[in-house]
Amino acid sequence: MMIYVLATACLLFLLSLTLDSWILLLLSLSAALLPLVEVLMGRAVLSLMRVRLLPRDHELYRLLDFVPAGWEVMLGVRRGPPAAYAAQTGFRSGVVVLNDGILDILTDDELGAVLAHEVGHLVEHHSLIRIAALALSVINIPVGTMLGAALSRRLEYRADEFSVVSTGSPHSLASALVKVVAARSGYSILSGFSPSLNNVLALFSWTPSLESRLRRIEEFSSKVCSR
Ligand SMILES: [Zn+2]
Repeated sequence: MMIYVLATACLLFLLSLTLDSWILLLLSLSAALLPLVEVLMGRAVLSLMRVRLLPRDHELYRLLDFVPAGWEVMLGVRRGPPAAYAAQTGFRSGVVVLNDGILDILTDDELGAVLAHEVGHLVEHHSLIRIAALALSVINIPVGTMLGAALSRRLEYRADEFSVVSTGSPHSLASALVKVVAARSGYSILSGFSPSLNNVLALFSWTPSLESRLRRIEEFSSKVCSR
């Protein structure tokens, strides 16, 4: 991912010199700075969310046995309803944050599947892609927001696929998602709207519906198993 970002920045820079375009020059500088912005934002989020980092000898680290070589992933906890997040803290390091509510409702296998999903976000630098999409959406807010939301939903599917491949347990991920969504159902702002309005709002939603994710996990795992 980082190679692609830097290659794009170099390409834009060369084009800006060839075409003598200050817009392309600005874009190339922005692209070159994206990895730095991603890390700064990840660290800012950790500090704003008051995350408590768990020491390396904490028992939860035994569930993180799928972290790719060369990567350093820490675990953090904070108070809150069932949820998990990933924050990039370096080019090959990050923190997976667990709200304490999630620890009460998931089994170890389900928690491992959720951790793998979040590690998937980290190793594929999904927050960098989201920042770039957010920046580009400023050009045309309605179209940009819809495209950004579609891209963000795609990243959720990608992280689910990473989890399935890493743990080999699509059922653990699926049951974890069902439990988390059930526990948070009172928080959904879409729950009070009509189905047709929900379909329109779903186009602008940055996370896919539970039904879509379960269907994709099922399709992906049967594709992987049939190879
Ligand atoms: Zn996710």
